[in-house]
Amino acid sequence: MNSLLFEISSISMPETAPSASKASTLHPLIDTLAELVGAAHVLTHDDPATDLSAWENDWRKRQQGRALAVVRPGCTEEVAAVVRACAAAGVSIVPQGGNTGLVVGSVPDTSGTQVVLSLQRMNAVRHIDSANLTLVAEAGCILHNVQQAAEQAGLLFPLSLAAEGSCTIGGNLACNAGGTQVVRYGNSRELCLGLEVVTAQGEVWHGLSGLRKDNTGYDLRHLFVGSEGTLGIITAASLRLYPQPAAQLTAWAAVPSLEAAVALLGLAHRHLGAGLTGFEVMSQFALGLVHTHCPHLRVPLWQDTPWCVLLENSDLESEEHARTRFEHLLEAAFADNLVSDAVVAESLAQAAQLWHIRESIPLAQAQEGLNIKHDISIPISSIPAFVAHTDALLAQAIPGVRLVNFGHLGDGNLHYNVQAPVGMDATTFLREQEDHVNHLVYAAVSQFKGSISAEHGVGSLKVDHLIQHKSPVALNLMARIKLALDPHNTLNPGRVVRV
Ligand code: FAD
Ligand code: ZN
Repeated sequence: MNSLLFEISSISMPETAPSASKASTLHPLIDTLAELVGAAHVLTHDDPATDLSAWENDWRKRQQGRALAVVRPGCTEEVAAVVRACAAAGVSIVPQGGNTGLVVGSVPDTSGTQVVLSLQRMNAVRHIDSANLTLVAEAGCILHNVQQAAEQAGLLFPLSLAAEGSCTIGGNLACNAGGTQVVRYGNSRELCLGLEVVTAQGEVWHGLSGLRKDNTGYDLRHLFVGSEGTLGIITAASLRLYPQPAAQLTAWAAVPSLEAAVALLGLAHRHLGAGLTGFEVMSQFALGLVHTHCPHLRVPLWQDTPWCVLLENSDLESEEHARTRFEHLLEAAFADNLVSDAVVAESLAQAAQLWHIRESIPLAQAQEGLNIKHDISIPISSIPAFVAHTDALLAQAIPGVRLVNFGHLGDGNLHYNVQAPVGMDATTFLREQEDHVNHLVYAAVSQFKGSISAEHGVGSLKVDHLIQHKSPVALNLMARIKLALDPHNTLNPGRVVRV
């Protein structure tokens, strides 16, 4: 597991709650909430010394919200009671896990009228069934802790992403997060067998099934996964576990073109089968940013090649078996001129370092300055043509524009990010060019039959784009589902779908 923890100090939540609220002068609901969950777990601006910014500001610093209160229930019944109280008061709720989401979905708006319902106190692993290969975790469980609980039982929970030291399993499921091992194990959705959910009416749906087969009508689990807190509040999940691999090998390869990277992916599928657990691609410019901003990380092979690829091979048999298969793959790749140079990590520490380089791209890019992010998916076969087409469009529209291109090629998911030309102020660039750039990129995504959100979700950042790029029939069905489950629009209003 490439579990390099990403410490997100800027948004890390206080370990203990700030001072307990006294009787509130802000809103009668606050006293009710204090009775339901305990005054220490209702945080407000009543006390000027209380700093709520960790819950109010999003990770990308795109929004500084203002909450009526941050409520931290300790169990499912308390979540249900909070939802009923807010619904009765006509106050909307923003569910929040680790607040690492990238599309402004987990923070309140600026009105000061919304309640942030933080799941962070509900962080227990309730149960592991080794024979059934399942684990039940509460929504506020940090992803890394879920991975560790599985590991202690000799098993694997394969969801892995750079925010795993801070994000929660509830947030992962609410966004249907992807990460680095989707090519083998699927998105969060595929790793979820059942859910416990508090509905917008404050009822509890006990759906913590450990079943792999259950065709008893509509699959409610799939409705809540990926709904970004707009349909219900996930309080616990039943998760799918896998055997731990006996060995994991990581290689870093220089490839002459994106076409070669796609061909290498096909070769890796044929040689490694289910052993292929990671396939990432990184452009030279993206790696150059890591080289500049994280000089302690020694980026291999990047200077003489337009693209590098990171491959991971997980083997259930042995390290020797893994190494032999990997060597055969790389030999075939060299013979077909798909790879010009490659290194294979000799130890887990070296492998972790290679992954760390890949996972440092967003950080290096942020240090270079604000940029316009696109989390898109395209059929893998069309990715080289998409990139050539869209790069040319942007270069023509904005001379000198810099493209930070990297992502999960094995899943057809690119992080196609656009950085200001050298010397241009990043804030001005965003203000003047963001709409234009988004228009060009998303039009190209539609032309190549892709999606404008592969793994980060819609939040509030992409609601307008979704309206332009999803079919009216699909949008209408989504709005009808939202209104059927949450008729008063209490849960995360304005996110994902407009009603
Ligand atoms: P939050 O940010 O708190 O919430 C996200 C959304 O889910 C919000 O809409 C919120 O209202 C809702 N929500 C949260 N908890 C619940 C709940 N219990 N019930 C209902 N709704 C809820 N994503 C990927 O897919 N792949 C990646 O590789 C990846 N890498 C990342 C790397 C970094 C450095 C960062 C900062 C983010 C990355 N992300 C990635 C974004 C990713 O979506 C989040 O990190 C993670 O899935 C969100 O979990 P969270 O607990 O922080 O949720
Ligand atoms: Zn990603």
